[in-house]
Amino acid sequence: MSSRWDEVKRIPIDEVAQRLGVPLSRRAGMRCPFPDHKDKNPSFSIDRKKNLCFCHGCGRGGSVIDFASIITGKSSSEVVSWLSQSIRQSKTSSHQYSRIAPAEEPETEDAQCVANPAIFDHFASLCPPAERGQQYLLNRGISEHTQKSFRIGFIGNSDDVLKRLLSKYGTAALVSCGLIFPDKAPELVFPSRSLLVPFVTGGEIVYFQSRSISNSTRRWMGLNGVRKLIFNQDAVSQAKNIYICEGVTDTLSATEMGLTAIGLTGASTTFSTNLLRSMRSKTAYIIPDNDEAGKAMEARVTALFRRAGIQFVVQRVPHGKDLNDYLVWRKQK
Ligand SMILES: [Zn+2]
Repeated sequence: MSSRWDEVKRIPIDEVAQRLGVPLSRRAGMRCPFPDHKDKNPSFSIDRKKNLCFCHGCGRGGSVIDFASIITGKSSSEVVSWLSQSIRQSKTSSHQYSRIAPAEEPETEDAQCVANPAIFDHFASLCPPAERGQQYLLNRGISEHTQKSFRIGFIGNSDDVLKRLLSKYGTAALVSCGLIFPDKAPELVFPSRSLLVPFVTGGEIVYFQSRSISNSTRRWMGLNGVRKLIFNQDAVSQAKNIYICEGVTDTLSATEMGLTAIGLTGASTTFSTNLLRSMRSKTAYIIPDNDEAGKAMEARVTALFRRAGIQFVVQRVPHGKDLNDYLVWRKQK
């Protein structure tokens, strides 16, 4: 896997940008090309020697993989498979590369997976909570009550679950909602022995993440080709103070502490215009992890909230690396 990633990282950033339809300026400064950053000053810098980019306005950037992932809203691994495919194509022919459309474009001709709440609901019903999963979360300070309120399930044997889904819906429907990979023998994107976390919006399940309790290389998994969402975003309408955390576990931890929280699920998660609008009447408490990724998250979210006119406070986790560490520590005291 790593050699494919390295190969992709060496594709010149100008070439990647070209393929994405966002050509980069050769001059010293340019405006940030990321879709949700309305950059008024030229904040974007490109280091062509190191093949890296960085926006001083929104704090995002990195390798060409990060770049393409932010532009398209797709996960790093999707971007890598797309780009490595283009490398192979360009070796055999000099034709135009297939272009993946930026996430903000409403309709695309490319096969893009979309959420299917009916299938998702059935899938969730095939994965009821199990003691192993509940115990895992209890050990991390998340009570059964909180687990239940988030409808957290458990995938015991993913092959069994897949068989039942296939017999009801068939392969094509499962591919098109991101539950199985398109180019392999049918395989559920979520591994066995995983917690199943539904993302509910407007009362419907529109996304899933799984958290393996045994497989350390596929720890967190998401749907294939479906845009990543913010976790627990329905909670925003109910509260005056909203805590902005990193990921599912910290969101559950905040809830356990009696706070109303939403969770960002990686650098490419974007706030919808509606969500930003509804946040304007609230105060946001941003809780970055105490590490490098946390710093990047803080820069990104504070820049976004400043532009969107949202009141915010950055709050440090008082103890440990993240909110969950803190919760566990607090409960042990
Ligand atoms: Zn930017």
